[in-house]
Amino acid sequence: MKIAVIGSGIAGSSAAYHLSREGAEVVIIDKAHQGQATAAGAGIICPWISRVNHKDWYTIAKRGALYYPSLIANLKQDGEEDFGYRMVGALAVSSSSDELDAIEQSVRQKRAETPEVGEITRLSAVEARELYPPLREDLQAVHVTGGARLDGRLLRDAMLNGAKKHGAAIIEGEGDLVFQNNKVTGVKVNGEVIAADAVIVTAGAWAKDLLAPLGIDLKIEPQRGQIAHLEIDSMDTSSWPVVLPQSSHYLVAFDHSKVVVGATRETGSGFDYRLTAAGVKEVLDEALAVAPGLAESTLKEVRIGFRPAGPDILPLLGTVPAAEGLVIATGLGASGLTMGPYVGTLAADLALKREMEIDLSPYDPLRKGLEAEIK
Ligand code: FAD
Repeated sequence: MKIAVIGSGIAGSSAAYHLSREGAEVVIIDKAHQGQATAAGAGIICPWISRVNHKDWYTIAKRGALYYPSLIANLKQDGEEDFGYRMVGALAVSSSSDELDAIEQSVRQKRAETPEVGEITRLSAVEARELYPPLREDLQAVHVTGGARLDGRLLRDAMLNGAKKHGAAIIEGEGDLVFQNNKVTGVKVNGEVIAADAVIVTAGAWAKDLLAPLGIDLKIEPQRGQIAHLEIDSMDTSSWPVVLPQSSHYLVAFDHSKVVVGATRETGSGFDYRLTAAGVKEVLDEALAVAPGLAESTLKEVRIGFRPAGPDILPLLGTVPAAEGLVIATGLGASGLTMGPYVGTLAADLALKREMEIDLSPYDPLRKGLEAEIK
């Protein structure tokens, strides 16, 4: 069976890796647009502490987080080593004990059915700063050991390398769908038509334009995120936990004294690939308000990514009755590094016409928008 995958961010590289390991013939087409979300993502994998409270979101985010250890094991088996993945734990921080009580209760409920949430500990402000020295002095925390972080670029490249090792081909260029008699029969790229039994569209925020010629109006928009990379001198940051304040901002530490802070969520930005004065200010203000100890760090870089934002909080994942052979997998929004590898496996199973392990009806790509329930 021959399958084409358009878009090699986290979702497409996972679909391609999964399919090629299963022995399918795979062609990956990627245009390498500026602002690929995967290349900008912070890398937090911790659905256990989240402001999103939606059961269908949690189903897929939880499975996404639980899928990581087996993905990493498979990649290692295929000779891939470097993903920046580490289970460093996470700190939900607040100056309000009541807020932390509610978080602790919610995390304990999740752990009752999912032991992978790990140990849950309430920390005083002094104890929290032992784990994360730059924190503000009045912030107490709930510490959860099952939180992880990764480098989206490294993981994407590892999955693409793995796919290549299993025979996948990669073509750089802009793909267009070939559509005849209500059936997608391949992809046109660089003037050449590649025939395929199925085509998976993992084109992130760009999927709308790709599907429009088929008369499919996918409700997907780019949401710009600006995110800063800091370097903090002479500190070993490699084991610092992810810090989650009570806002949409966060701090994630990596090896080599690197701390990533962000990010803006700019709905309505379009594909405007620019750093803005207000965006960079917001990111730095929010980070320094939570961790004033980062004030003297070096600002190394600010990245821009376009999150694929759907009509609500859920992914857009499934097939479309009017276009046989087409699989859509996008709409991963702010949680795509958590869900993306798992969503890629689901997209691969759809292309192979396998029985699905979860009910995909809540993620129907052409559903009407639900209200996101964020608490
Ligand atoms: P993308 O990574 O955007 O990839 C789409 C690819 O498709 C691109 O390479 C593009 O060039 C290609 N493409 C599009 N159209 C075509 C075409 N016609 N032909 C060929 N190629 C095409 N998630 C988390 O879980 N945790 C986080 O901490 C986190 N932090 C984030 C921080 C920021 C600043 C941002 C922007 C996102 C963050 N996310 C996070 C979300 C996550 O990064 C995204 O949801 C995820 O990366 C989306 O992946 P994707 O594969 O769907 O799309």
